[in-house]
Amino acid sequence: MNKYIANVLADVKAKNADQPEFLQAVEEVLTTLAPVIEANPAYQANAILERIVEPERTIIFRVPWIDDKGIVRVNRGYRVQFNSAIGPYKGGLRFDPSVNLSVLKFLGFEQVFKNSLTTLPMGGGKGGSDFNPKVSPHTPGKRCSDREVMRFCQSFMTELFRHIGADTDVPAGDMNVGGREIGYLFGQYRKIANEFTGVLTGKGLSFGGSLVRPEATGYGDVYFAANMLAMRGDTLEGKRCVVSGSGNVATYAAEKLMQLGAKVLTLSDRSGAIYAKDGITPKMLKDVMRLKTVARGELADFAKKTKAVKFFKGANSWQLADKVDCAFPCARQNELNGKDAAYLLKHGCTLVGEGANMPSTPDAIAAFAKAKIMFSPGKASNAGGVATSGLEMSQNSERLSWTAEEVDTKLKGIMKAIHDNAWNAAEKYGHKGDYVMGANIAGFTKVADAMLAQGI
Ligand code: NDP
Repeated sequence: MNKYIANVLADVKAKNADQPEFLQAVEEVLTTLAPVIEANPAYQANAILERIVEPERTIIFRVPWIDDKGIVRVNRGYRVQFNSAIGPYKGGLRFDPSVNLSVLKFLGFEQVFKNSLTTLPMGGGKGGSDFNPKVSPHTPGKRCSDREVMRFCQSFMTELFRHIGADTDVPAGDMNVGGREIGYLFGQYRKIANEFTGVLTGKGLSFGGSLVRPEATGYGDVYFAANMLAMRGDTLEGKRCVVSGSGNVATYAAEKLMQLGAKVLTLSDRSGAIYAKDGITPKMLKDVMRLKTVARGELADFAKKTKAVKFFKGANSWQLADKVDCAFPCARQNELNGKDAAYLLKHGCTLVGEGANMPSTPDAIAAFAKAKIMFSPGKASNAGGVATSGLEMSQNSERLSWTAEEVDTKLKGIMKAIHDNAWNAAEKYGHKGDYVMGANIAGFTKVADAMLAQGI
């Protein structure tokens, strides 16, 4: 390994020994940068790597709120403002009990390179809380009520508002933060800051949201896959696809796959996975979307009412189908391991398009690389969501809204540009077809050059 990279990695490990997800993300990026570091000595001379692995600012705060029984609850809130060299911090908020500094630093670090790849002027950040909207603090088997979620969001924003702004830091949704939560957060920001600006993205259409933002991450993931296939003169038509998750990214990826003539065989959630050997139908998918965003239920309940799918309790999507062409991990980090990768490869998989952030473990990525299949890392193929957030920011600044066709056309263009940038960077440094290296180098170079230009 390049000595400079090895030294920086050793230092990051020593300083962040208790942050495994962050270390995994840093190692994945740094170990692919040797060609560009060696070709540009100014990066080492100006300590670009040492600086790029350290967030510019990390904010941790108390979030007290009152539940429906009148009991005071306290959660921990975070915002990691990782890098603003090329634009205001931009990145989602995640509400989940698994949220901690390691998870948010990994997500913020990834976001820096992802946002750079979108071709738009956005820095990287991430935030959230260990608040769990899916579990009521007082009634076993129930979720938090809408009012509890609202009170939590209001308290969270009462602290966060002083650290964000349309030209400073623009949060969006992530896991368990959808339209409902963004609405409550925006309402509280507007009230206490006394201004109506594009400070959050993923807003409702009636208050500054962009058409196609909800669909953008999933659609973008599939557009990226279509671009990879096009390099081999192929399309998604007739491909047998396994998708994990059943949230925002997964369901819109599934929808776009169906529109492009592919068969979607699986979806999953915390309760397990559903498998339809002849493909999930558009009607079933709509029912899943309603279940997840309105009724807020589990796939286990859906499977009880739907004869055409088989339910596998506690399973993920990877080892259910006996013939697979493409896999789209769209649920969470480290959800596809080496064993899953071996199964997918054995059963014909030639394309993996990551929709989630860091869903494949390092041994799974190594197996895909060894088999030389098409593999797109999340920071490239799930960048459509943040790119469309960037488009929402532009519309808010101009005080106008574009049509769905306009936004979708721009999204397609951005996904093609990201694909081509990653492809060209990998080719330039002698690793043709390696989208992991290509995306890392292309994303890194723009940020590193901006940091160089702006001094230490
Ligand atoms: P959602 O909360 O809408 O969906 C997440 C899905 O993953 C749900 O189906 C959830 O199941 C499942 N899941 C979560 N944790 C587990 C677990 N421990 N075991 C099994 N299943 C689990 O989130 P999004 O769709 O927004 O995000 C999914 C991924 O995509 C994340 O990695 C996120 O960071 C990434 N991403 C999202 C973007 C966006 O625009 N939303 C943009 C770029 C990346 P259940 O329904 O049971 O909770």
